[in-house]
Amino acid sequence: MRETAIDNLHPPVIVSACLAGVCCRYDGRDALSSQVKERVEAGECISLCPEELGGLGTPRPRARIEAFEGSSVSLPQDIQAALCQPIGVEGGGAVFQGKARVRTEEGVDVTDAFLSGAFEVAREAVRCGARSAILKTRSPSCDSEIGVTAALLQGLGIQIFPVDRDREERG
Ligand code: SF4
Repeated sequence: MRETAIDNLHPPVIVSACLAGVCCRYDGRDALSSQVKERVEAGECISLCPEELGGLGTPRPRARIEAFEGSSVSLPQDIQAALCQPIGVEGGGAVFQGKARVRTEEGVDVTDAFLSGAFEVAREAVRCGARSAILKTRSPSCDSEIGVTAALLQGLGIQIFPVDRDREERG
């Protein structure tokens, strides 16, 4: 069944690249949504993968957000200037507050790569004037509740529309 709310979003719309059929997930697979792919091919959506933009290769180890006690992240000046509301304190927002870090299952801290990717997606969203984003669920970058990139986009006032293409695995 088509999701009409997504069909009606005003372009340009930022979308998770894996939803558009790009094999950029941690396991080298995509999370194709034919509806999203159609809109990318029509030039209405811009597909981006924050984890690849942050310099992480594909495939890559799974990562997750873990509690931490540290200092809040210093945002680049252009990102700070583009915020229209404070970044949340829960989920992916906690990474910006210094209350969480992103680590692989082997314990490698990949927070800086996740932040770098989030900044790149945010810059593209600002550059193109996107007001909405279609993002994959169950991803430490893109999930609307736990994702680092999603938290930053929400701080820019961008509305997130989650798409769950896989109930078993995280992206
Ligand atoms: S969910 Fe986001 S970070 Fe994960 S593969 Fe898809 S676009 Fe990349």
